[in-house]
Parts: sequence; C-alpha cells; structure tokens
Amino acid sequence: MEKLLSKGEGWLESHPEKELIARRYLKHRTSLMRQALARLVEEESPDADEAEEAHTAEEEAVEAPIYLNDQRLDAIVAALKDSGATSVVDLGCGEGRLLKMLLRDKSLTRIVGMDVSYRALAIAQSRLNLDRLPARQRSRIELIHGSLMYRDSRLAGFDAATVAEVIEHLDAPRLAAFERVVFECARPRTVIVTTPNVEYNVRFETLPAGKLRHKDHRFEWTRDEFQEWASEVAKRFGYTFGFAPVGPEDDKVGSPTQMGVFGCGNL
Ligand code: SAH
Repeated sequence: MEKLLSKGEGWLESHPEKELIARRYLKHRTSLMRQALARLVEEESPDADEAEEAHTAEEEAVEAPIYLNDQRLDAIVAALKDSGATSVVDLGCGEGRLLKMLLRDKSLTRIVGMDVSYRALAIAQSRLNLDRLPARQRSRIELIHGSLMYRDSRLAGFDAATVAEVIEHLDAPRLAAFERVVFECARPRTVIVTTPNVEYNVRFETLPAGKLRHKDHRFEWTRDEFQEWASEVAKRFGYTFGFAPVGPEDDKVGSPTQMGVFGCGNL
C-alpha cells in the first residue's frame, strides 16, 4: 500500500480510475484498498471535511425553523423500535447524533457507527463521551471507519441498519455499489433510509429556487423518484418496502424528509 501511494504521488489522487488502479495493484485485498483510498481521498482534498462541516451547518440553517433534525431522529428511533431490533449499525453516522439517542435505548445491546470521514468519527467520539463512558455502556457502542462503496464483513450480523441523509451524498452511478453492500452483503433484517424530498424545497424560505439543500448533495429526489428506487431495490434483494413522510406535511409538496423502511424475514 505504501508503495502504491508513493508511486501514485501527484497523479493517483485525482485519477478518475483510482479505485480500479488501487484494487488491481493491491490484488483485490479489500481492507488494504480501503485504507489506501481513504488516504487518497484525504490527500486529494485536505479541506473536504471542513467544507462538509460548513455545508452541514448550511443545510441545518435551511431546515432549522421546523426542527427537522429532531423530527427525523425521532422517526428513525420509532421505526427501529417497531422493528424490534436489538443491534443496529448506523451507516454514514456523521457526528453521531443518532448514535447518542440510540445509546439511551436500553433495548439496544450493540450499536455501531460507521463513516468514511475520520473527522466526523472524531467528533462523534467526543460528542458521545466515549472515553469517559462506564465500561458497561462503552461495551455497547463502537465507531468504525469504512466506506459504503465496499463490501465489509464488519457490517454483517445486525438486526437493523440506518442510513440517514447519506444516499444523496453518493454519486448516482455508485448507488448500485451501495445497494449491494447493504442489501446483499450486510443484509440486516431492517434497513431504514432517509433522504430529502426535493419537492418540499420550495417551502424553505431561505433556499433559492432550484438550489439543493447542501452543496455536497449529488441529487435530491421527488417522492416518486425515491419510491421508484426503493421499490426496485426491495424487489431485487427480496425486501418489503414501506414509505413514511417525516416532518410537517403539505398537501401539494409532501413532507421535507422521506423515510423508507425495508424489511426481510432473515434473522
Ligand atoms: N447520518 C448523519 C450524517 C449525514 S451527512 C446524520 O443524519 O446526521 C452524510 C454522512 O455520510 C457524512 O458523515 C459523510 O462522511 C458520510 N458518507 C458519505 N459518503 C460515504 C461513504 N461512501 N461511506 C460511508 N459514509 C459516507
């Protein structure tokens, strides 16, 4: 991996096929490749995480007047309760807001947060006070670094996975990889996905017309687009799919957040 990184210095980080090159060079050894790509991403855009933080603040400012963040977290926690899950992995956990709520739920015995951003994980670590939790609490939760683009055996064996406000950060052509990683390889019994409903954007007073809520969003879907995607994924991987609006509902444009709950019989 070190040899690849040193040989690739100056060109590999910005090469459009860097994943393929890294995969071949490292002879398909996924964990090494993941480490190499994580370092390449950092080298390519050392400020990316800071930019991400600023953007998150921007998105929150748009959504703040309706306390959307809280409503979204409450909806996810309620859906998790309904599913009866005792173990959950929060994919793209960011700074750990959902994890913090999950820790309070005593019925959850195993909670894992995963993110591709080291910086977000470091913030989560301090927000959750992980270093100061009593041993019994500490043993219930774990933060791991990883990418939803690669199969990862650490993601298998959970009752439920949550993917909150993450898919819209993935390039549309890469969604297929995400789908296989979650629904084929990790394959939890329940998958809860939330994403913005673009139709609602006209109701945000501070958001200019036609603009997405966050600069890093690669897309924002209408309700139809989300449901079409979700139904197709559910069918392909043998899950059921249920749709739920989150936040204040508007007759014309629906609710600001859309949530999908996927279920399969596999325990
Ligand atoms: N779920 C959190 C954070 C949403 S922001 C919340 O609801 O508050 C989107 C998060 O997805 C960021 O933390 C970003 O680092 C993460 N992310 C983006 N691409 C990812 C990938 N390929 N694998 C894992 N995490 C990813």
